[in-house]
Amino acid sequence: MKIKKVSMIPGCISCGTCEVICSKVFTVKDIAYVDDTVDPNEHKDDVEEAADMCPVSVIKVEHEKK
Ligand code: SF4
Repeated sequence: MKIKKVSMIPGCISCGTCEVICSKVFTVKDIAYVDDTVDPNEHKDDVEEAADMCPVSVIKVEHEKK
């Protein structure tokens, strides 16, 4: 399933894991940010892995329906 949107819910602890896994989409400064100019589907496996590996589960990945 294609990714529709990647967003952050509050609670990031700035561990840096998402940026290590997928620096094309995630940047960690004070907290993690998603680069909306990048199509997450070009890095789909890494985005999904980053969401899975986030220790506080604050990376929200929405998929297109069907
Ligand atoms: S993996 Fe989760 S807690 Fe760690 S920097 Fe990324 S969003 Fe924040």
